[in-house]
Formats: sequence, structure tokens, C-alpha cells
Amino acid sequence: MKIDNLYVHFPFCRAKCAYCALHSRAGSTAETRRAYCERLAEQIMALDAISNLSTIYFGGGSPALCDLSSLFDALRTRTAVASCEFTVELHPLDAQPRVLEQLKEGGVNRISLGVQSLDDDVLKAMGRLHTAAEAEAAFRAVRAAGFTNAGIDLIAGWPGTTMESWRTTLARATALGLDHCSVYTLIREPKTRLDLAVRRGELVLPSDDAALAQIDTARAALAEVGLMRYEISNYARPGFECRHNLAVWRGEDYIGLGEGAHGRVGLVRTASGVETTVTPEEDAVERALFSLRSREGLSLERVARLWPILAPRLPAWRETLEFFKRQGLLQDAYRLTPRGAEVCDSILAELV
Ligand code: SF4
Repeated sequence: MKIDNLYVHFPFCRAKCAYCALHSRAGSTAETRRAYCERLAEQIMALDAISNLSTIYFGGGSPALCDLSSLFDALRTRTAVASCEFTVELHPLDAQPRVLEQLKEGGVNRISLGVQSLDDDVLKAMGRLHTAAEAEAAFRAVRAAGFTNAGIDLIAGWPGTTMESWRTTLARATALGLDHCSVYTLIREPKTRLDLAVRRGELVLPSDDAALAQIDTARAALAEVGLMRYEISNYARPGFECRHNLAVWRGEDYIGLGEGAHGRVGLVRTASGVETTVTPEEDAVERALFSLRSREGLSLERVARLWPILAPRLPAWRETLEFFKRQGLLQDAYRLTPRGAEVCDSILAELV
């Protein structure tokens, strides 16, 4: 079996952000990080089926807190890195010339910079450790290092963010000349510092309408500079869509390595190192429905062609999709409208 996509997870961060419930931790030692990377490098060397990868994605956490050279060596030995889309998520404080040079030498050709906001008060409340100016400087450093495919992440709906502050963040972000931008709506995850502060009444989350208005403003601002929405939370200049994520949404296999990684190979699912096996029908449903999130949408003709096992479900799916289309949540056959994007999870739940 040949696999096209590899995700590698790094659980190390400088500090835990106030909103973060991801598998990540602060306070690791250099020795821990070195041992972690060595284990990953060994796993890469032992993998079958990666001789011809198309995409590699290093996510976290903050991957660049680690010395990634052993992983780069392993990858170079096992696959044609130069022909891959190779993404690394980068914390703005890691965008140092020496680090960027190492990434470039390792074959990385796409940078996703975790900016989250360009309002210093918001960044401080998020516990991000960098200022807006430092984030902007980091993006410029990424460009100066020669990365021609680079973008940032933003979070909408932080407590107390006024529309004026959000518009300023968007204006500063779009002025950077982004190729890609992910805009996530803040989620109040249990047991985070954000959750605690909300429970104590120290922070007040915006209403759903206010958060959605920020997403809508982001969509318009990004469209103005040529970044079009191609998935619920993702915008890109044409040709700069993240190939790795597109592959996942199209239902392709991907190997997940590292503590917090998810993977999907055949009927096997990996989540944080634990493997489970799904039935062929569960597998097909998952792969088929993922595509609803993307601009390409959910084509029942494609589903019928790729996953014949789902044929008995298609009449009911068509009926459900037509219902949502009449509600204005879907268009064509079948893509989310902007309103539909806001309730995609409910639509998927209905189909499942
Ligand atoms: S840097 Fe990312 S992974 Fe680490 S705590 Fe912050 S949001 Fe979570």
C-alpha cells in the first residue's frame, strides 16, 4: 500500500495558551525533545509505504522548539521530500533566521504561523507570549527566508474583542501579503484558563451572532485581497490551498505519528497513539462526508463511484441534502453556503 500523506505531531510549547485544549505541554527539557524526535525518526525509518509522499505536515505544539534535523534526515532517506508540500506550524517567537534556514534546508516549503490576533491586549489575555508587532515581524522574516507559501492562523470571538479591534487585526493581517489564512471561532474548551475565567465571570464570551459576524467580516476582508474560502475555516489565494488538509477532507489516507496525532490508513484509525479499527461502512461514511467541509462539497456521484458500499444510503442522503438546500444552507449539489458553513457539524450529524 502506498500512502501520500504524513502528519507528525509535536506536543511541546513555550507556555500553555489560555484557550488551548490540544495535546500539548509547556516546560519540556531539551533532552526530552531530543529523545522524542529520535523516536519519531526511528518510526519514520520503519514505515512502509511512504516512498512517494505528496504531503508532510509538522503540527503541534510548536515543532520548531525541537531540533528537527534527525527527522529531516529520516524523511530524506525514505521519500522524495523535494516534491512534497512540506508544512511546519511555527510560533512567531520561533521565526528566527537560524531556525528558518534549518527548515528551508530540511525541505520545508510551507509555513503556517500561529498569530491568532494582532491586538496586544487580546494576545496577552490569550497567553500567547508575543506581541502583534512581533507576529508581523515573524511573518516578514518567513518571507525574507525565502518561503513563498506562507500564511497565518487567527481566532475570532475572543471575549471583549470589538468589531473595530477585529477589523484592525484583519487589516494588519491582510497587509502582510498572505497566501493562506485560517480563521477559527474560539471554542470554550472545558478546564482551560479561558473556561475558568468565564466561569468566574472575569471574561464574557461574545454571542454566537457576534462571533459569526466576525467570521463574516474576515471572509469579506480576505476575499478583498484574493484569499477565497475553500473550507469552513480556511482561505487561500488560488493554488495555495493546503494540499495536506485537502487530502484529508477528500478522504485520503494519512499516517499520524507523535503523541497527539490522528491518522487514517485503510480501516485503522490512530488517535494519540491508540489504534482502533472501523467497519468498511463506517470507513466509507467518514471519508465521504469529510468532503462537505471543503469548497468542492459533497458530490453523491463521486460517493457512488468511490464507495459503492454506500449506495443504499444515497437516496436518504439526497433527501436530507435537498432539505438543507431548501433552507439555504447548501447550494448546487452539494456545497455549503456561508450560512451552511456555520452549522456544518449539525448537517453532518443529520447525515450520519
Ligand atoms: S502554542 Fe498552540 S498548541 Fe501550544 S498551547 Fe498555544 S494553542 Fe496550544
